[in-house]
Amino acid sequence: MLPVIALVGRPNVGKSTLFNQLTRSRDALVADYAGLTRDRKYGEARLGSRPFIVIDTGGVSGDEDGIDQAMADQSMTAIEEADAVLLMVDAREGLNAGDEALAQHLRQRGKPFHLIVNKVDGISADVATGDFYSLGVPSLFAIAASHGRGVRSMIEAVLGPF
Ligand code: GDP
Ligand code: MG
Repeated sequence: MLPVIALVGRPNVGKSTLFNQLTRSRDALVADYAGLTRDRKYGEARLGSRPFIVIDTGGVSGDEDGIDQAMADQSMTAIEEADAVLLMVDAREGLNAGDEALAQHLRQRGKPFHLIVNKVDGISADVATGDFYSLGVPSLFAIAASHGRGVRSMIEAVLGPF
């Protein structure tokens, strides 16, 4: 069985961009507006000679009305299917209540997850990530998915235990 990594997070944080980076395909739609990717998408990715499966999701609304509304079924399913979850957040928007709800949910499920602070291109990674330490997530990576910055070392660390 290949390790399975799920990408979850609010719309527009860059999940499909990272999916495309990892799979080097145009399989996942990348859009400037929220919510275009409605279903889970599976791609085979490779780090060096090491293959793994990545799941793109699009269904987290980011509403602050609690976890039931903040997460759509397909994101929940992806989380269940995954060996490791990448919770993606937007460095330019800062910490959001939807991010907090997701982190809380993942913690309750006991799923190993990593916080991925995306869009750090052109800004200081230290400043960008500072906001997010309050989530209390032990594993945090700063990346720029659209530029591929930080992606390889992040994936290496995430795949380490598998
Ligand atoms: P998703 O809704 O989470 O799948 O987000 P998308 O991958 O569709 O990306 C949403 C927007 O953010 C698009 O305009 C992307 O080009 C942009 N984006 C994604 N990654 C980055 C990044 O690393 N830096 C910057 N500046 N923009 C990004
Ligand atoms: Mg998407």
